[in-house]
Amino acid sequence: MKTFTCGSLVPGCDWHTQHEDEAEVVRRAVEHLHSAHEEEKVRPDMVERIKERVKDA
Ligand SMILES: [Zn+2]
Repeated sequence: MKTFTCGSLVPGCDWHTQHEDEAEVVRRAVEHLHSAHEEEKVRPDMVERIKERVKDA
């Protein structure tokens, strides 16, 4: 199981998600960043930064 905590990227945010598939965790994280943090564009380096913070649960 993979897990991502938004607070590791956006200090103060307690949103988190987990899924067995890392790609799904990244997809959900990108969706959250769009909806909760008004990221108009998620750049390629944003995806890399998410991936670096995905942990095994
Ligand atoms: Zn967040």
